[in-house]
Amino acid sequence: MLWDFGSNDYLGLSWHPALREAAKGALAEGPLGSGASRYVAGDDPAWHALEAELAGWKGYEAALVAGSGMLLNIGLLQALAARHDVIFADRLVHASLIDGARLSGARLVRYRHLRLDELAALLARTPARRRVIVTDGVFSMDGDCADVGGLLTLAEEYDAIVVLDDAHGLGVIGPGGRGLAASAGAAGHARLVEIGTFGKALGGYGAFVLGPKAFIEGLRQRLRTAIYSTMPPPLLAHAMLRALALVQEGALVHALHERIRTFQQLAAAKGRPATDTAIQPWVLGEDEAALAAARRLEAQGFFVPAIRPPTVPEGTARLRISLSAAHPLEVVQALVEALPA
Ligand SMILES: *Cc1c(COP(=O)(O)O)cnc(C)c1O
Repeated sequence: MLWDFGSNDYLGLSWHPALREAAKGALAEGPLGSGASRYVAGDDPAWHALEAELAGWKGYEAALVAGSGMLLNIGLLQALAARHDVIFADRLVHASLIDGARLSGARLVRYRHLRLDELAALLARTPARRRVIVTDGVFSMDGDCADVGGLLTLAEEYDAIVVLDDAHGLGVIGPGGRGLAASAGAAGHARLVEIGTFGKALGGYGAFVLGPKAFIEGLRQRLRTAIYSTMPPPLLAHAMLRALALVQEGALVHALHERIRTFQQLAAAKGRPATDTAIQPWVLGEDEAALAAARRLEAQGFFVPAIRPPTVPEGTARLRISLSAAHPLEVVQALVEALPA
């Protein structure tokens, strides 16, 4: 048996008995598949309850659920931008956002990772009918975070909107696990559209978008990847309602934060930096060093994936450690001990 430091199940919810009970209950009384697009016959009251719960908890006027994050982002950017518009994206944003930007037909302009000075200069010299700034919240390979406040200031200055994909921040960042925007005091901002997924800390599958009510209502009519795709199984809506209730109880988020702090302290003792998120990159440089380290860890009982180019830049091959509330503290300690210097 191996301890799993590779999945994005940051709160251990994918195996949680309460979520599996909720799914079983839904299955005892309802169908497995939704049978159709939500816009035809595939809707279920539980999705509406989930959307209302998400909007309220996250601090936005409205929410809309879709299939996976990949599907949502591909549809969202197509709905948001078109020819004559410009999408500005951090160089390290998730592939789904790049694919969505490409399909939109808008011009795609990338700025260096987290470099808001460069973004400001690009905004100043790029004329466009519409400007959309796209960023991850917590970045998936480095565990570092976007400056949401700084991005919104630029959005106001240059009449843009910000699309913040916080797939790795939800359930992780801030005392209540409400994510990066909430902890920056920016949730519900009129120029902010936030994306979250159910597949990571919430332990399920699917995704959602949050924003002003008029925006979300308009999106309902334009999100091709929801309109022309079968709605996810309704048992997921029931399970995700349970997941949100558990996150709101606070104990799981607290446990994750305890593990992040423990990791930070032990990493510092080894002279290594650590992030404030569940994602801890342990950069080793050459591909072979990362692969060999992953093999050694596996022999000691830890599954930690080695991430290599082209997923990360040349010469920065690394172990990508995902911490979870479900890891016993002693196991986190043993892992750091086993990590190469
Ligand atoms: C995982 C991820 C996605 C894709 O979500 P899925 O539900 O797995 O398709 C989108 N954006 C970011 C930033 C992600 O980390």
